[in-house]
Amino acid sequence: MVNLELMDWQTYAARVKDGNAVIMLPIGAIEQHGPHMSMNPDVLIPKAISEGVAGKSSAILVAPPISYGYKSQVKSGGGNFFPGTTCINGKTLIDVVKDVLVAYARHGNRKFVLVNGHFENSMFLVEGIDLALEHLRHEGIQAQVMLLSYWDYVTQDTIETVFPDGFTGWDVEHGGVLETSLMLHLHPECVNMEKVVHHHPATFPPYDIFPPEPSWVPSSGTLSSAKNASEEYGRLLFNVCVEGIFGSVSERFI
Ligand SMILES: [Zn+2]
Repeated sequence: MVNLELMDWQTYAARVKDGNAVIMLPIGAIEQHGPHMSMNPDVLIPKAISEGVAGKSSAILVAPPISYGYKSQVKSGGGNFFPGTTCINGKTLIDVVKDVLVAYARHGNRKFVLVNGHFENSMFLVEGIDLALEHLRHEGIQAQVMLLSYWDYVTQDTIETVFPDGFTGWDVEHGGVLETSLMLHLHPECVNMEKVVHHHPATFPPYDIFPPEPSWVPSSGTLSSAKNASEEYGRLLFNVCVEGIFGSVSERFI
């Protein structure tokens, strides 16, 4: 069993009390991902990858994901104005990350891996980690936290296979081939390929503007087309992320 919340508390306590367990914490967002997909790939993908990594070593446990994330931005998530996109303030996310890390550390845990699935979360996760570690130092607890975004583990070889016509960057992959392929592999019931809207990758000016302009975003809500997504690509992407992340976790923590 890799999901810690499915354990009874005494089994969990015995697994973590010596501080040698590695706790993986997936962090996502609830955000529209086009008409062809559910609104939770940013949660389900890092959760599944964390479970895949944890399956490789009995030292690793997966915590329940933080499902809400920082506000969707036009140039990376389509923006915070689509029905269904449900975001929290940066300071709320910082506090949630901090509180959850402090709580798990008080159980005895000292090694954490935050697996991010939503680009906009990034710097708020850094702040939550920093404040948690500072807080814990005052309690005499020294913990270590690894922070990663799963797409950074997709190798150049895999990029060339999955994007044979050229790769336009992770930022416009919102609802595109990467996430849709992974969801076809992990949760096909959440994808309907017949509803994919085919369009060129979105292009944006070099600046942002506030309030954001919905006209910058394709009306589908996706920033590139998922037309070429496949279960096979999803399996490839999943495996390369699990292998790579397990490599990093082993190197630092096991
Ligand atoms: Zn996403």
